[in-house]
Parts: sequence; structure tokens; C-alpha cells
Amino acid sequence: MRESFFEQIIINQQNLVAYATDTATNEILYMTQAAATLYGFEDVQETYGKKCYELIQGLDTVCPFCTNSKLTTGQPYQWEHYNEKLQMWFDITDLLVPFEGKNCRLEIARDITALKEKFDRVSNRLTVEETLVDCIQTLSSETDVNTAVNHFLEIIGHFYAADRAYIFEYEKDHIKNTFEWCAPGILYQMEFLQKVPIEYVSEWNYKFELDGEFFITSLDNDLAMDSPEYRILKDQGIESLAVAPLRKNGQIIGFLGVDNPRESTYDLTLLRSVSSFVLEEMERRRLIRDLERFSYTDLLTGLQNRNSYIKMLDRLSNQTLQSLGVIYVDINGMKKINDNNGHEYGDRVIKKVADTLKSRVGCEAYRVGGDEFTVLCVDIDEQDFHLLTEKLIRDFDKNKEYDVSIGHTWREGNVSVDEEILKADDLMYAEKQRYYHAILQGDRIVRAGIATELLKDISNHRFEVYYQPQICLKTGHIIGGEALVRKRNQQGKLILPDHFIPNYERERVIRHLDLLVFQTVCADLQKWKSQGIEPHISSNFSRVTLMASDIVTQIKQICQEYGVPSEKITIEVTENISKLEPKQLVKLMNQIVAEGFSVSLDDFGSKYSNLSILTTLEFSEIKFDKSLVDKLSSDARSRIVMKNTMQICRELPMTHSLAEGIETAEQLDLLHQYDCDYGQGYYFAKPMSSEAFFELLKKEQMHGTPVLVQPDQCDDLKI
Ligand code: C2E
Ligand code: MG
Ligand code: MG
Repeated sequence: MRESFFEQIIINQQNLVAYATDTATNEILYMTQAAATLYGFEDVQETYGKKCYELIQGLDTVCPFCTNSKLTTGQPYQWEHYNEKLQMWFDITDLLVPFEGKNCRLEIARDITALKEKFDRVSNRLTVEETLVDCIQTLSSETDVNTAVNHFLEIIGHFYAADRAYIFEYEKDHIKNTFEWCAPGILYQMEFLQKVPIEYVSEWNYKFELDGEFFITSLDNDLAMDSPEYRILKDQGIESLAVAPLRKNGQIIGFLGVDNPRESTYDLTLLRSVSSFVLEEMERRRLIRDLERFSYTDLLTGLQNRNSYIKMLDRLSNQTLQSLGVIYVDINGMKKINDNNGHEYGDRVIKKVADTLKSRVGCEAYRVGGDEFTVLCVDIDEQDFHLLTEKLIRDFDKNKEYDVSIGHTWREGNVSVDEEILKADDLMYAEKQRYYHAILQGDRIVRAGIATELLKDISNHRFEVYYQPQICLKTGHIIGGEALVRKRNQQGKLILPDHFIPNYERERVIRHLDLLVFQTVCADLQKWKSQGIEPHISSNFSRVTLMASDIVTQIKQICQEYGVPSEKITIEVTENISKLEPKQLVKLMNQIVAEGFSVSLDDFGSKYSNLSILTTLEFSEIKFDKSLVDKLSSDARSRIVMKNTMQICRELPMTHSLAEGIETAEQLDLLHQYDCDYGQGYYFAKPMSSEAFFELLKKEQMHGTPVLVQPDQCDDLKI
């Protein structure tokens, strides 16, 4: 009795939480007063007979972690457990004891909640540091700022077991959600939070100043329900949140936060520590981005500049395009505008042109020169593109202050970007000629340029390619021919090239025609080859055509398309090619030769021929002009010139001679004497249709003897 009295006092004094249950029925047989009080009973007797899982753990059935089966007499069983009902940690010792013939579990528990939290905090602090390192690594290793910050937010979100992690930045009178990470199943809110009035978070600034970061544990308890802040948070399903300010030079410029954090909520160290890192990193990236943006932006107009344009061309050249629309815009008489009204006014005009472009095409427009603009529309529908150009032309037309010249092209499938841009440029340039012409005539500006007409004529198959045979003067055999273009007018009459080529050259649109002729030559060669005839053909190229940087690639591509070996083709250039920039000229010649084409110097000896071209460039053929041949029989001086230049030709390695415009037997005789290699002229044959030329070649092949030359006029036959 004495013992039980004192023992009872000791037990009560120590506030010992202990109870005994029947292991067979799980009914409570005994409980200390401290335990009963903890579970809300004043009188311990009231707890007796109740099921332990209901009273102690708040469960409906036997606890899944029940220790009954683990107990053996005389061996205490010790374990730790978190009691969900009480939200407390216990250190528990269970004993199996016999009582009134029953097996009883005596459980003695010690509240260790405070200890646990302290331990958790210590162990958590380690993870804070680890997470911090993780965040910093993420921010510094990712090159793209968006990826870096989003990944960083994900780490923060995971750390706090939050629904959402985000960054808000302050703008003038509102705050803006600039980055967001969401846990699976949580809806993104960023797009709805782009212009939140700054008043909504005015309280927050105060708290930031006061405490730095802060934690709203319960929206309902911590905020007034009628506050706008409460509404906007509640609407997003937020019950609690933790936020830390982002400061720049001491000034709060935004905040970093997590919604509904469930773990480590008592420790906002991570949030505080990372906020300074993320801000620095964001600033650094923005600086780089701005610098990059400036180097690609034209500061006067805000359009993309030439750098950006070149970068874009580079990108497009590595891309397969479905279609491409190009618009070239050039302000007419910019110099005059500047001279008459000053540069400030001139700048305003440039800006206005840019604004018009911006309003219609935005980021596809580039300022590529002082008063030149290009629009590149990638993979655009033809109709959409034409609608766009029409609108632009209308916009520009409305303007009375200035005038622009516009060129535009659209093409689909296997598009060469360079080619399209040049075409648009040519068209614009052609239109500009109209402008100059209009100024001279005091006339209205007419928009339909010569280039448009040429392209229309090309698509209407107005052009035909004739061939004039070229003869080997030694054997009399036809070695091939020169391709000469003709145009059929509305009445069906053939027009000779001298009537239209100079015009196209002046207007810088000749390349379209040269390429058309070249393509026709390749198509004819392919056709003839299939019938066993493989002549060598010369095709004329204007200097303007050869100015395009990608011309060699283009002609090579055309050859490949028709399966024609480049060795079968000679490119005829005239002496005025030497007007090209010397470096460019040498590069061009090397490229042409490297691709296997021959190059012939046409019209040599006409006007003021300059022999020096022969010292710098290596031609495979020199074509003596008709004017020299004409004078052979009548003018002794011409004979001397011809004889000696032929001699030069012979001495130049790899170069042979061809005389054009041979009309008489006398001329031919003299050319024989001067050892001229090849000849071309009405004496042999006039230029003829491709069908007639093919028949001629076939005939000669069948006969095996020359068909255009009398036997006594060939050196070989004379011998
Ligand atoms: P070219 O390249 O010097 O061509 C020779 C011109 O002389 C041709 O005139 C030819 O018909 C003419 N011809 C040849 N033999 C005789 C002859 O015995 N007597 C006379 N009176 N004339 C003769 P065509 O076909 O009128 O071509 C004139 C020029 O047009 C060519 O001179 C060439 O510079 C240019 N041309 C022709 N086709 C093209 C082309 O596709 N592209 C370019 N850029 N120019 C071309
Ligand atoms: Mg020629
Ligand atoms: Mg010629």
C-alpha cells in the first residue's frame, strides 16, 4: 500500500504519459492523469474501456503501427512516433505485462516534439545550404535566362513543397509576374498577373522594409477578407505564402515567393539568401540581352538593323523554305530631303517609313541601309504576301511628305534567298529609274516598272534562244554554237537583242534574262544529248549578272538540274567586266573556272579594247569582234592588229581564238593565214532556231564531213 501511494505521487508529479491496454480487445485498462488530461479527460475513469486506437490516435480501426505483436514479456520495446491527433512527437516504451489473467500493453510516452523540431531545424539547415548551392549552380550554368530562372524556381518550389514559386517585378504603377514554376496539377497564373495594381501589395512593402521576408500562415487569419490583396490571393487558391523582397541598391524592385508551402515553413533563410543571387543573375542576363538587342537594333527607327539582317540571311540559307516573300523599300531622293530640310527632318522621314513598315510587318522588317529597308516574309502564302504588299504600297501612297520605290517578289519551293533579294532589289531599282525619269519629265510616278514587264514577258515565254554555229577553221566541223536571245513581240515578230538588252542592263534587271537563256541552253543540251549529240555552247552573261555573289552557285545548280557537265559550256563576258572590283573579278573568274566552265572574252577589239585585261585574267577563248573582221580585207592596219593579237593568243597558254562576224571567203582566207582557231559568222550560218541547229548538227554527224564549209576552205582538207 505504502509503495503504491508513493508511486502514484511520483507518477503524477512527473506528468508521466502512460496507459495500459488489453492486447486482446485494445481496451484501455489504465491511464495516468497526465495522459487523460492530454486527451481531454478530467477523470481518468472515463477513459477506461475505450478503444486505444480511437482515444489515443483518433483512428476507427486498429493502428497499422500497433506494437502488440512485437512485444515479449520482460523485453521493453522502444520507438518514436508522431501522433497525428495531437500533432506531437513521442518517445515511447512498450512493455508486455500480465494483469488479472490478461496480457496487457503498458505504454509509457515522453513528449519529444520540441526536441524533434530543433533537430529538424539543424538537419534542414544543411539542406538549405545544399539547395542554395544547387540554385546558384543552376543560375550560373544555364545560358538562357528563362530556363535558368525557371529551373531555379523549381528547386525553391520543391524545397518548400509549395504549389507555386514565382518572381514579381515592380513596374511604374503595377507589379508584373515575370517568372513562374508550378507543381504538377497547379494552374499557371502568370498570364493573368501581368498588370496587378501596386496598391494590392502596398502592405507588403512595409513588411519587407520591417522584416525582410515574411510568411502569411493563413490567409483567413492574417488578412482582412475585404482587402483586394485577400481577394486576388484567394482567387488563385492560395491559403498561405512566403515571400522575400528583391532589392537593387537598397530599393525593393520585386519579390520572390512560394504559394502554399508545406515544408520548412519556419525557415525562410533559403528564400532570403537566393533572392540576392537571382536578382544579380537576372540583371546580368538582362544587360547581356540588352547589349545584344542594341547591336541588332537600329537606334533611330527601332527596326532590326543590318547586323540582324545578315544574321537572318545566314539562318535562312541553312533552312529549307516553303516560300519566301521579299519587299525592298527605298526612300526616293533622300539626299535631297536632307539637303533641303536638314538631317533632323530627314531622320523623321526615315522614322515614318519605319513606322509604316512596323505597323504592317513588325519584326520582319530591317533597315539595311540609310534609306533602304527590307522585309523578309518566310513561309508566307502568296495571296497573303500580295495583300500585304498592296497594303504597304497604299500606306506609302497616302503619304505626301516623301515617296518610296518598292520592289517585291514571292516564290515557293527550293527558294534561293540571295536570288529573291536581288530580284526584289532589281525591281525596286527599276522602279527608282521611273522615279528619276518622272523627275526629269516632271511626270507622275508610275509604279509598273520595266522589271515587272520583263518578269511578265519571261513567264509568258516571250523569249526564244537561237544558236549560231561555231566552226573549227582547221577541220571545218561545227564545234558548237553561241546562244543568242530573241524576243517575240505581240505581233509575233522576232526582236533582236540590241533592242532590249541595253535597256535591261541599264535597269539592272538583265540577270533574269541571262539566267533564263542559260537554263534554256541546259535544257536543249540535255535534250540533244539524249539523241547522241553533244555540242559545246557559249552563253552570254552581262557584267550586271555576274555581280551577284551567288551567280556561280546558281549556274552550277542549273547545270546539275539538267545533268549537263559544265565542260560543255562557255560563259561569254565582255571587256567591261574589268569594271568590277579587281579582287571580286579574280575571285569570280577562279570560281567559274574551278566549276569547270570555260570563259570567253567577247567583242575583243571593239571600241577601246584594253590589252591589260589579258595580263590579269586567264580566258579560255578570245572572240575577235566583227568590227575587226570587217576591216580585214580593206584595211592593212586592221590586218596587222589581227595578225599580232592572234599571235599573242597562241602564246597564251590555254587560250584559243575565235573570229566573229565572218561574212566573206576573203576574210576566212586571211584568218586561216593568221592561224585563227575558230570562226562564227553569216558566211557559215546565221543564228537559227534550236530545232534547225539540232538538225544541222545531226546532219554533220551523219555525213561525217563539214556541212557548212567548202572542202577547199579547210586547212586539214587542203593538206
Ligand atoms: P555578241 O555576243 O557579240 O553576239 C554576236 C552578234 O553578232 C549576234 O547578234 C550575231 O547574230 C551577230 N553576228 C554573228 N555573225 C554575224 C555576221 O556575219 N554578220 C552580222 N551582221 N552579224 C553577225 P545578235 O544575236 O543580235 O546579238 C547581239 C548582242 O546581244 C550579242 O552580241 C550579245 O552581246 C547580246 N546578247 C545576245 N544574247 C544575249 C544574252 O542571252 N545575254 C546577254 N547579256 N547578251 C546577249
Ligand atoms: Mg557573245
Ligand atoms: Mg561578240
